[in-house]
Amino acid sequence: MHAGTHGCSSWTAHPAGLDKVCGDAVGPRARQTLEALGAETVLRHEEQVSRFRLVSPSGRSVSGAVSTPGFVVPRRVLDARLLDAAVAAGAQFHRATVAAVSTGATDVVVTLRGGGTVRAAVVVGADGANSVVRRSIGEPPNRDTHLALAVRGYMDRPPDFRELLIRWHPVARGVAYAWAFPTADGHVNVGYGAPVSEPPRDVRRPWPAPGLTESNGLDSHATGGWFSNCIGDR
Ligand SMILES: Cc1cc2nc3c(=O)[nH]c(=O)nc-3n(C[C@H](O)[C@H](O)[C@H](O)COP(=O)(O)OP(=O)(O)OC[C@H]3O[C@@H](n4cnc5c(N)ncnc54)[C@H](O)[C@@H]3O)c2cc1C
Repeated sequence: MHAGTHGCSSWTAHPAGLDKVCGDAVGPRARQTLEALGAETVLRHEEQVSRFRLVSPSGRSVSGAVSTPGFVVPRRVLDARLLDAAVAAGAQFHRATVAAVSTGATDVVVTLRGGGTVRAAVVVGADGANSVVRRSIGEPPNRDTHLALAVRGYMDRPPDFRELLIRWHPVARGVAYAWAFPTADGHVNVGYGAPVSEPPRDVRRPWPAPGLTESNGLDSHATGGWFSNCIGDR
């Protein structure tokens, strides 16, 4: 939205509406940021989730309601709404793959894959865990302790399931966690992530999310065909 009001362009490799590595939760601080940008309408009232349940590795759980609710919006939906809002505010949208970024004396030069360059006074790199922008300016990759490998997918939402559920799970070096976040469109985003130092033996098979499903009416078998493997910044 700032991009729109400041005559900026947005460049991305993928079409809007692509599924993303994410649990789809939008926390209160993200909502505040959207409000500050005048883009709070990308979140809908029915997508609000006020209740939470946290389950410790030993199985103890605490649940409650927060005063400032979060939201659960599938990223393919949220990203498309954000793009529409930015374009409505005046941003120009282009689809191309960025090959490299270099800094000139007075501006930044973005080289596009397949040819062509774009010059800008400022470039904001929001190109994900494998950021070309970051590599181009010589920043080292994230350490393993800051990277997670996860499987996630969508399943039908049981009628009464309306809480953000996170279960911590001990692994050899640290903790992993499973989550179940209900969307407003009748699904639950279910996933299980671990530090990359603790990968599962076979990531092609769906993981059961340990202890996540049995007490919440969630059927882990129902998710079998839906899981996708993903890696990204934690
Ligand atoms: C397992 C897991 C669960 C998570 N759950 C949550 C959650 O519930 N809530 C939450 O807030 N966060 C969550 N996160 C974190 C969140 O998903 C990321 O922090 C967020 O997606 C990062 O946003 P981004 O815009 O930097 O990158 P991304 O969302 O990854 O977007 C990168 C964009 O850059 C584009 N791109 C990449 N390379 C190029 C290129 N060379 N040229 C042009 N375009 C390019 C892609 O097309 C894409 O559109 C989770 C992360 C993981 C790993």
